[in-house]
Amino acid sequence: MNDAVLNSIALTGFGVAFFHAAIPTHWLPFVLTARVQRWSLPRTIAITALAGTGHVAFTALLGFAMTWLGVRLSISSSTWFPRIAAGILFAAAIYYAFRQMRGHGHVHFNYPHEHLHDGTVAPVPPPRVSDRAAIWSLFAFLTISPCEAFLPIYASGIRYGWKGFVALTIILSIGTVVGMVVFTTTTLAGLNRLRLEWMEKYESGTIAGLLVLVALLVLFLER
Ligand SMILES: [Zn+2]
Repeated sequence: MNDAVLNSIALTGFGVAFFHAAIPTHWLPFVLTARVQRWSLPRTIAITALAGTGHVAFTALLGFAMTWLGVRLSISSSTWFPRIAAGILFAAAIYYAFRQMRGHGHVHFNYPHEHLHDGTVAPVPPPRVSDRAAIWSLFAFLTISPCEAFLPIYASGIRYGWKGFVALTIILSIGTVVGMVVFTTTTLAGLNRLRLEWMEKYESGTIAGLLVLVALLVLFLER
């Protein structure tokens, strides 16, 4: 094992974290709520970052459990670990590739929406409430849903024990928060509409590609 591999996993993890934030549940509720509550841009960014951190923290708990098990059973020292980690990554990649092919770019659960007469789907703007209630519902909405795309990343970092867990958690948090803030603020500003649609459309496929990349790294570099 060497740090170059951990760095590559972390870099790919950043990509997965950033692109998974293109899923509308990671920015649409913030855009709608910020408009209804008439929040300033700095306030919206701060609240988005807070909810993003809570979202990653919940997933990190699962990563913590996986790392604990891995360290406990000293899975990482066995010679077949790279093959098992790669197998998990490939399986996850197939799942995301399948989603992409079926036209479901979006993971996680649905935001409240309505079907319009022309057959399109539109999000339902939340009613105006107190700021505290609005912040809590945004925070709870994302925190209770883990990012399953991070779990294979954590699995491939088990070999690096607690050092790997801490490094990956920091990277995944930054990638997610940066992604959520970027997608929320650009949508609020009415910018990048086209680019955002592209990202939404190919988000699952992009994650699948990144996971395959990590799988190959683990397979060929960790011997
Ligand atoms: Zn997520």
